[in-house]
Amino acid sequence: MPFLLTTVASVAADLSGSGIVVIVGLGMLVAWAVSLLLHPYTACGSCKGTPRSYGSIATRSFRLCPSCSGTGRRLRLGARIWPQNRA
Ligand SMILES: [Zn+2]
Repeated sequence: MPFLLTTVASVAADLSGSGIVVIVGLGMLVAWAVSLLLHPYTACGSCKGTPRSYGSIATRSFRLCPSCSGTGRRLRLGARIWPQNRA
């Protein structure tokens, strides 16, 4: 275990500032990809997630949001990198 710690320390010492930036950037990219896997949808921008538009005269009648076809959700930007989000 001390060998592993010294290896990690020497690798960290060898890294320049740009190397650390690259590693942090890669970490943020991986976190974003995992976030897209766990939560691929966001609220529809047109209806804000409430896809029924009710009439003012016939108040029980409604139409569905044409942007999301009544689902109230949209795939997040980049969510298609995961195969299960490609339709
Ligand atoms: Zn909508």
